[in-house]
Amino acid sequence: MARQKIKVYDKDGVEIKDEYLRKRILATRRIISKPRKPEVEAYIRRNRKRLVEEAKNQPFIKGIQWHLGPHQREDICDKLATQDLYGLGPGCYPANAYPDIPHDNCHCWDTEIVDKDYFKNYSPSEEEMAAIKKDPKYPEFKKWAEDWLARRHPEDRKDRKTSFVGKFFNKLFR
Ligand SMILES: [Zn+2]
Repeated sequence: MARQKIKVYDKDGVEIKDEYLRKRILATRRIISKPRKPEVEAYIRRNRKRLVEEAKNQPFIKGIQWHLGPHQREDICDKLATQDLYGLGPGCYPANAYPDIPHDNCHCWDTEIVDKDYFKNYSPSEEEMAAIKKDPKYPEFKKWAEDWLARRHPEDRKDRKTSFVGKFFNKLFR
């Protein structure tokens, strides 16, 4: 007798027919149903701690966002990923208030929230510039950066005096 396929449904109860999606969902279910080995658990917690410590020391990081990973049932993580306690947005926390991993086998993940205004006002010092230009890879870097600027910010390339990106490049590649 042929093995019966396990049916998978979306949150509205509609069966998922796409074979790739079905397999991915079943694989995810298998992963989250198995407890992680203690050393893996410890490694993940260590990594998380490091991310938070590093974020605390970066002036351009506004905070960290909690993303809900796959869970077998609703738990504290649903709240952590959606509450907005600091006005930074749902699931967003300053680094020094970022919650600890609340339970073993948590598959949630984090991203740093970058303060874009920081870079608007950022200007590398003369020493930093000198160090960058001394690097033997500087010409290679310059070429890569010029290409990038032409592709991503063609308008900044034209006017390097007014735009933030343009001004930055002007200083870096003069
Ligand atoms: Zn979680």
